[in-house]
Amino acid sequence: MRFRFAVALSFVLAATLLLPSDARPKQAQQVIRAATSGVVVDATYLREEQKLARDVYRSLYRRWSLPIFEHIAGAEQRHIERIKLVLDHYRAPDPVKSDAVGVFRNAKLATLYRQLVARGQRSLIAALHVGATVEDLDIYEIEKMQAHLPGDSPQGLRQAYAQLKCGSRNHLRAFTRQLQVRGYTYLPQRLSTAAYAAIIGGDHERCGCGAGSCRGGAVGGSGCRWGGGRRGAP
Ligand code: ZN
Repeated sequence: MRFRFAVALSFVLAATLLLPSDARPKQAQQVIRAATSGVVVDATYLREEQKLARDVYRSLYRRWSLPIFEHIAGAEQRHIERIKLVLDHYRAPDPVKSDAVGVFRNAKLATLYRQLVARGQRSLIAALHVGATVEDLDIYEIEKMQAHLPGDSPQGLRQAYAQLKCGSRNHLRAFTRQLQVRGYTYLPQRLSTAAYAAIIGGDHERCGCGAGSCRGGAVGGSGCRWGGGRRGAP
């Protein structure tokens, strides 16, 4: 924890100095709060976690050629890009230095990638279980991040988390349905039984701006991108 805090603080100093002078006071305060409250640490982790999902699915698609893996890998790519906007907003360094499959800065995620892909090589059923596990974990992690967002967090950040979680719910439904039609049941690893049942019992959701998550939101306009084109706006 102490290391994380030190990293956050050193980043704050660099980020504050990089701000244009007219934006500095308000933006700097927001940046400092975000960094010290762990938002930047969370978003940094989340960017690589979404890459983990994409890379696992790409690898499993190569092994099994089942369209669901390729299709959901495409959605994960959009999630990866969404989180980059969050990091850009806070002038935070990007942990993704290489887009190559299986390359991570976070050692835990690198290990997890190898374990999940190895597990998914054994059988198609195991691969589908891996897919559901990744989504289960994603939803659980994003919920934890949402729970400790500072009260004054920008709307764009809340929307980014909400959209990612919405996408993960759809992916979880898709993987568990694939298991179900083959006669298998997924048992949640991280989500509670009740939370899992509520997700699986729900219909496929529209997670874009048209779904209402961004309608009338502070990001404004038709775009759901952070700041709605006004860089730095909350
Ligand atoms: Zn997903």
